[in-house]
Amino acid sequence: MTVLSPTITLNNGVEMPQLGLGVWQVADDVAQSIVEHALSEGYRAIDTAKIYDNESGVGRALASTGVARSDIFVTTKLWNSDQGRATTVDAFDASLDRLGVDYVDLYLIHWPRPKARLFVETWEVCEEIYASGRARAIGVSNFEPEHLEQLVHAGLTVPAVNQIECHPRLQQKVNREYHRAHGIVTTAWSPLGQGTVLEDSVLTSIANSHAKSVAQVIIRWHIQLGNTVIPKSVTPARVTENFAVFDFELSDSEMAQIADLDSDGRMGPHPNLADF
Ligand code: NAD
Repeated sequence: MTVLSPTITLNNGVEMPQLGLGVWQVADDVAQSIVEHALSEGYRAIDTAKIYDNESGVGRALASTGVARSDIFVTTKLWNSDQGRATTVDAFDASLDRLGVDYVDLYLIHWPRPKARLFVETWEVCEEIYASGRARAIGVSNFEPEHLEQLVHAGLTVPAVNQIECHPRLQQKVNREYHRAHGIVTTAWSPLGQGTVLEDSVLTSIANSHAKSVAQVIIRWHIQLGNTVIPKSVTPARVTENFAVFDFELSDSEMAQIADLDSDGRMGPHPNLADF
């Protein structure tokens, strides 16, 4: 029987699989084949974005798989240049078209882009998309607590999810605590630090003691923290490996050893500086 990921209940009652596949920097044709492979291995969540230029490939996989659309959690994201009342709905519709679906499970504002001062009105449009039923949940990505506070102060919907950079060298304790206090689920992007933490000696020793790979230990750490997590690979064997994390558990002491690896090792830009 296929093993499936546990789910986390979002603040509107929708269930989101804790472990999914990310497809940033994956060519459109490769996206189709790797998503088909992932679905055959038990993945039920796929994370794409307009800017990844592979929504069509993901859509072809959704069309060709034997897995029912209703069993797959599809996330896509609004790109920065599409923020604003006049452009958000058209960008959303174009994503649905490329994906070949009539709804997504989660629609995210990709970056706050605070200097443009558009994310609050953009969020209001996301609320309208949600109300139309074409997104089962709405959320944000790369929002700092100060940006989330602006939504709260405007009396708007609390995002279901905030997708942020998070891995052993950037553990985001303050942001995760803010999310927990406000009922927002944290999704970890670049959960493996884009592969840069896989040689770490502490993680290697923990992995050896469980006869698991370092990637599996890191993914398991995210799951036990309560994150949703979307590791990426275009190598089928690694995609399979990254899903084999539901048959072991990290001890409290191992979780504490990993907590000590936090070192402000950000890979991407700080959201306040990301003005692209
Ligand atoms: P990641 O941390 O998932 O690392 C991916 C890299 O790790 C791979 O390219 C490969 O080199 C290596 N890897 C993966 N599995 C491995 C294994 N089992 N063994 C050895 N090496 C392995 O990096 P990512 O792609 O940056 O992040 C994952 C996903 O997060 C993206 O695909 C995307 O969906 C999302 N993301 C979102 C944002 C955002 O702004 N919202 C930004 C970056 C990424």
